[in-house]
Amino acid sequence: MRKLLRVNLSNGAIKEENIPQKIATDYVGGRGFGARYLYDEVAPGTDPLGQQNKLLIVTGALAGTSAQSLSKWVVVTKSPLTGTFARSYGGGDFGAWLKWAGFELVILEGKAAKPSYLYIKDGKYEIRDASAIWGKTTSQAQEYLKKQHGAKARMICIGPAAEKMVRYAGVFSGRRAAGRGGTGTVMASKNLKAVVVEAERKEELANPEEFKKLVKQQVKNFEEGLGFEPFRDYGTAMGVDVPGFAMGTFPVRNFRSADLEGWDKLSFLQYAAITQKHSGCYACMLKCGKTRTVTEGPYAGVTSEGPQYESIWAFAGPTACTDLGATVKADYMCCELGIDTISTGGCIGFAYELFEKGILTTKDTDGLVLKYGDPEPMLKLVEKIGRREGLGDILAEGVKRAAEHIGKGSAHYAMHVKGLEMPGYEPRSLKALGMNYALGNMGANHCYGYTQQEIGNPKPRLLDAAADEGKGDIVKYNHDYVASVELVNACTFPAHNLELFGPEIIGKMLVAALGETKFGSADYLSHVGEKVYNLERCFNIREGFSRKDDTLPKRMYTEPLEGGMRDGELYRKPDVIIDEYYEARGWDKNGIPTEATLKRLGLEEMDKDIVKFRR
Ligand code: SF4
Repeated sequence: MRKLLRVNLSNGAIKEENIPQKIATDYVGGRGFGARYLYDEVAPGTDPLGQQNKLLIVTGALAGTSAQSLSKWVVVTKSPLTGTFARSYGGGDFGAWLKWAGFELVILEGKAAKPSYLYIKDGKYEIRDASAIWGKTTSQAQEYLKKQHGAKARMICIGPAAEKMVRYAGVFSGRRAAGRGGTGTVMASKNLKAVVVEAERKEELANPEEFKKLVKQQVKNFEEGLGFEPFRDYGTAMGVDVPGFAMGTFPVRNFRSADLEGWDKLSFLQYAAITQKHSGCYACMLKCGKTRTVTEGPYAGVTSEGPQYESIWAFAGPTACTDLGATVKADYMCCELGIDTISTGGCIGFAYELFEKGILTTKDTDGLVLKYGDPEPMLKLVEKIGRREGLGDILAEGVKRAAEHIGKGSAHYAMHVKGLEMPGYEPRSLKALGMNYALGNMGANHCYGYTQQEIGNPKPRLLDAAADEGKGDIVKYNHDYVASVELVNACTFPAHNLELFGPEIIGKMLVAALGETKFGSADYLSHVGEKVYNLERCFNIREGFSRKDDTLPKRMYTEPLEGGMRDGELYRKPDVIIDEYYEARGWDKNGIPTEATLKRLGLEEMDKDIVKFRR
């Protein structure tokens, strides 16, 4: 039987449970397990930071095997930033270790009376005192726990920003983060600083020989794949150049422009020149982690395992800064404080624009002059957000709540969807990607259904990035595709490139590992991916979300993009794409799955929860 560990932090009760066969078959694992258990166990209206919310740590059925890029872990919860379903993926080794310890899922409930950490080893579980590391940064806390538990231990932890209830704090393992949506904030609300697992490597496979053959095939696919070598050598930083500035997709000055003078100082080649080390998650030959040390300028000597593309953007685009050293330093600070780089950069970009408009003045910023191109105030704001000091205390709420607090028309400058700050791709330049944000179950999250078809991937068909219609079905395809590969917590970087990796080989691997023949069909995995996507939507509908929330910031519809390759672009017909999407999904005009759709997907039991929201 596949197992979960249920931990009640309020009363200290910890028990192992078998995952019922029906759930194991119907939801496969990974994000599927997360969605089902969250739906069943977190009632509508639950306070995300209250004791009734739950934090689910889920590893994949193939984690800890030699299969490539399949050992990530995911945190699933109700987001304190958006109030929606949230899933956020982290990398490193922790997913493998949790699987070796015998669990695919840990459900954390209640709230510990004092700062604590969960320790798992050899069938023993303990809630231990974490007062020595409460308030410590993510690296300090992990160093301490490594000294306590030795080299065989792996862990996830939160930083001081989570403890201060910054609404977009993440959960960290090494320097890898489950960054988006405030998963770390929920962990802190439970007084839980870390989860530590000590385990020995073990691989229990139904058909080891077949599995070995499939891994060999997968490695060959990776090695022969077109994008393999550049991705391994340069990582996601390549996105700055292409699509970035080559296609006008790099948002600048709080999503006003797609042009930045001197952007070549941020080219991936500049980052490559300061990269010392390539590191990967457990069993991943792509090694997209890049350790970089700044070699010149005011930030010389600063080292970070990053920044990845999104973090480069977060500390360059919103503030129009081209200081590469500052992006490395801000990335390092966010890792130490334990906050999401995308939301942090988005909140700072919001503050810079309010300062330009005179809505914020030096009286509100503790004397900081938020001048475009100057990275120093940006770095000071990162620290202030992480510590909730001064203006940082307001920005720590996220742009949506910060705008409500500041007033004076500032909501117009808050770039978010459903409360989640927008990532570093310009919706007016990539219109299907924009609708991926608008329609996404957790708000503006590029990873939820990255629209490769607008930048050259022909599967299932190429899209004209600028076209205003005829792409709703592809937005759906991408949402479901990502959900289907995340049933095994597959990393979406290689999984977005079908040449390398996809449901066919994943299905065969699942059969060889678990002996469950149903999983061998790519169609079955696609069906379950679609079902999980709809289940997450039902979770949101119960919370009151509907068509009114499937929207982009007004700026996207009313202000033409300034500069860059897509100068003048505007989002003209969002409703057309939304209607196309709902139709392809089998949802009504209010974005609610019809009874027939729920039946087709095996979600009939959710009908009673959402029927009153239909139009
Ligand atoms: S591609 Fe990067 S994030 Fe994905 S599994 Fe490999 S090392 Fe981890």
